[in-house]
Amino acid sequence: LLDPAGRLAPTIFAEMSALATSTSSINLGQGFPDEDGPVEVLEAAKKAITDGVNQYPPGRGMPILLEAVATHQERFYGLRPDPGSEVLVTAGATEALAATLLALVDAGDEVVTLEPFYDSYGAVIGLARGEHRTVALRGPDFAVDHDELRRAITDRTRVILLNDPHNPTGTVLSPETKALIVELAEQHDAVIVSDEVYEHLLFDGRAHTPIATLPGAGSRTVTISSGGKTFSTTGWKIGWLTAPAELVTQILAVKQFLTFVNGAPFQPAIAVGLGLPDSYFQGIAATLQQKRDLLSAGLTAAGFEVSHPAGSYFVVADAAPLGFDDAVDLCRRLPELAGVVGVPISAFCHPDLAAELSSRVRFAFCKRIEVLEQASAQLAALR
Ligand code: PMP
Ligand code: GLN
Repeated sequence: LLDPAGRLAPTIFAEMSALATSTSSINLGQGFPDEDGPVEVLEAAKKAITDGVNQYPPGRGMPILLEAVATHQERFYGLRPDPGSEVLVTAGATEALAATLLALVDAGDEVVTLEPFYDSYGAVIGLARGEHRTVALRGPDFAVDHDELRRAITDRTRVILLNDPHNPTGTVLSPETKALIVELAEQHDAVIVSDEVYEHLLFDGRAHTPIATLPGAGSRTVTISSGGKTFSTTGWKIGWLTAPAELVTQILAVKQFLTFVNGAPFQPAIAVGLGLPDSYFQGIAATLQQKRDLLSAGLTAAGFEVSHPAGSYFVVADAAPLGFDDAVDLCRRLPELAGVVGVPISAFCHPDLAAELSSRVRFAFCKRIEVLEQASAQLAALR
């Protein structure tokens, strides 16, 4: 994450999206949808602007959204966080992650994450001067090795930072893995921070189970999510977290100096989204599953070996069968070879696992069907 001068380097997403723009390639690198989300949500934001909801809202978030987050948690998971003390609105999941880690991690504290890991995790653990330990997810199914998990979590562990469903592998944690994580967190008195931004994007009939629903977990878990993925509003940056009141108080103390408050007119709009009927949530998962299958078939036909993601909007494609061992090099050349942009999995890894997964590329399938068809046709040129 650091450049040769020891400064934080630009993220892989900025680099790859700039490459897509400058080469007019199809951007399957940065994960964002190329279509607008539900019209009710968009209209609610427009109405809020015209109605004058344009000044600083409360720091915790607007009551209508705090209530909607709590009601959504109850409706889907049977959880009932107190809207006034156990919910916090943030500038996307990104700020929720940053404020939580900066609040909880002191210099030298260990934070355990899965690896590959979303790039902001490594950066923010570094900003908090924490020590980053990881548990590798290895192909082809990218499951958690329980022995490795037991070795990684010790009395030095302050936070166990999960991502379920997982970016970039698409893995969904098994009930056994989640139960073991709760057991280890209790044993070593660690806080669980669970990034669940893809909570509604699960496939093949799966339903999401937040780790906070497991016995013993609720009192030590911070659950993070975001409107960006669920309502295709990644540019609005409205996220939230739910946690016991005393943790929310500590996190709010940091959050007030990061952004203070967040996008007023977008908050009632995301509240409308969270209240949409079940059919909306089922519909987005079903549509994305179709897109997963379409792009996976295209990548397979092009000669990649593809993973079978259970959730998220990413598929991992191994370019080794095509003779490419270095996905960083391949991703830089992919615009000229096929007019497509992807992201090397190594961007989500420390050096050892990066070397092991060096031929893997992450492709995002949250794009229109015709775009995925066009990308598949162009990728066929790699054969
Ligand atoms: N966590 C994960 C795992 C993500 O994939 C993303 C989106 N890139 C984020 C957090 C950030 O979410 P937001 O855009 O809401 O800040
Ligand atoms: N979550 C998206 C991804 O993983 C966007 C990341 C970003 O732009 N920071 O691609």
